Order: sequence, then structure tokens, then C-alpha cells
Amino acid sequence: MARLLDPVTREALLERVRFYRDLGLTEFYRRPVDPELVGQLTIETEQTQMLGAPSFPLLPAEMVGVQPASQPVSAQEDQPISARKTFPAPPQVTEAVPAADRSAALQLIRDEIGDCTRCALHSGRNKLVFGDGSPAARLMFVGEGPGADEDAQGLPFVGKAGQLLNNMIAAMGLKREEVYIANVVKCRPPGNRTPEPDEANTCSPFLFRQIDVVRPEVLVALGATAATYLLGQRQPLAGLRGRVHSFRGTKLIVTYHPAYLLRDPRQKKEAWADLQIAMRELGLKAPGKA
Ligand code: URA
Repeated sequence: MARLLDPVTREALLERVRFYRDLGLTEFYRRPVDPELVGQLTIETEQTQMLGAPSFPLLPAEMVGVQPASQPVSAQEDQPISARKTFPAPPQVTEAVPAADRSAALQLIRDEIGDCTRCALHSGRNKLVFGDGSPAARLMFVGEGPGADEDAQGLPFVGKAGQLLNNMIAAMGLKREEVYIANVVKCRPPGNRTPEPDEANTCSPFLFRQIDVVRPEVLVALGATAATYLLGQRQPLAGLRGRVHSFRGTKLIVTYHPAYLLRDPRQKKEAWADLQIAMRELGLKAPGKA
């Protein structure tokens, strides 16, 4: 019979799953239960609760190798990671919009979205988060979906992750107003969970149209969700970083989500290496470098 986890362990476990998700590791398998391990785990869990430090035996499939007769965690109720699915191809590229008309063209998309009720996310929304920045940006960032701060203000990346993104943009020698920022979904998923495929597939065509209007020279996908829906397939983030992909002819670079970098600042160096690829493609030099 299914056993309910206590709230502390459950929250710490969810945090660990989110951490792996940010790395692009999205499928998890249960090992066959070893009674000896269960004994150790009980002790470890008690220690964990005392120390407040998570320590878990669940490992991503990529690390443990897939076990026969295993059950994906994602098949269980209320898990933040959705099952592997294929995604519809993005729509066809439209005619280029002259720079002077881009602001109005973006407004037309916003108007069409309206007071959206196309997917379940609308019910928890305070403000819809359309996008922010220059309609003629050379560089565009794509995140996953609004968090609490973004939902309150109606602007993307204005919370803690947004502050880090602002720093990343400044390190590239750009101002936030010079780039364009949008998300895969425009309404906050409850508890900041990953958008479900039906939610992302319902909303992402509007993102694709924003990209078509802005026509950035370089797109940066922040995290696994943005990479998944821009590339049209789910792959571990580690295998996507460090090179230039194409989103319907636009150069696409994949890097870690700033929220993940806040949780694991050791990866900032890797993210900076990805941003340097974007800078190279844009012919930009870091401030202070000749
Ligand atoms: N995380 C995102 O992916 N997007 C936001 O706008 C804010 C946080």
C-alpha cells in the first residue's frame, strides 16, 4: 500500500527532484526495495529532519542506469516531472516585421491572448506575464514560466532569479532594456511546478509568434523547459549546453536556469561559458575587455 511521506521529507524530496530537473534529468526510477536500505533510510531520514539537510536515495535514471521492471516516479500522482512526450512542431516562420512595427505587432499578440482561459493555469493567475524588453532586441531569453513575483507584477524575471538574470545580462555588456525576455507559459504554475505539456503546448505558440516578431539574432533557453519546447524534444540539459542549436533558423543556446544557479552557484562558470557563446555569435565583448 502507498505510504505517505511526512511533509519535511516530501518537500526536501521535491526540492531534490526540481534540482535534477534543472539539470535536464527528468525521469526517475525506483530501485527494487532492499529491506536493509530501508532500515538505513529510516535512520538517515530522522537525522535529516534533525539537521535540516536533505539526503535521498532516489537517483535520476541517467545516473543509476534504468532498472528492469522499474516504475517511473512521474507515473505517480502529484509529481512535478511529467512523463516523456513528443511535442508538436513549431508553426511556420512568418514574414519579417519591420523594426518600427514590432511594438504594435507584439501588442496584437497580447490582445489576441486577452484574458486567457485556454488552459488550467489561468485559474491561479493574478497577472498574465507576456514579455518584457526591446521589440528589436538582438538577444532574447526564454524562461519557463512566471513565479510569485512575476505573477504579482506582470513582468518576467523580476524576482531573485530575475536579479541574477539582470547580472548575467550586465556581464554580457548589455542592459536589460536592450534584450527581450519571455517564458514558455504566461501564467504562473501552482507552486512553481513545471508546466504540463498541454499547458506549454497551448501557450508556446504565442511565444513562437513573439520570437517571430522580435527576430533576435540569438535566443538563449534558460533551463530544460525552455530548451524542450524550443527544440521540440526533451533531452538532458547537459547534452544541449555548450553549442549552437537552431530554432527555425535563429541561433539557439541552451544554459542553466538562473533559479538553478541560485541553488547551485558552482554552475555559474558553466553558464558564463554558454553566455560567451551567445556573445561570440553577437560579436559582443565583455565590459572592460578591449
Ligand atoms: N522563472 C522563469 O522561468 N520565468 C520567470 O519569469 C521567472 C522565473
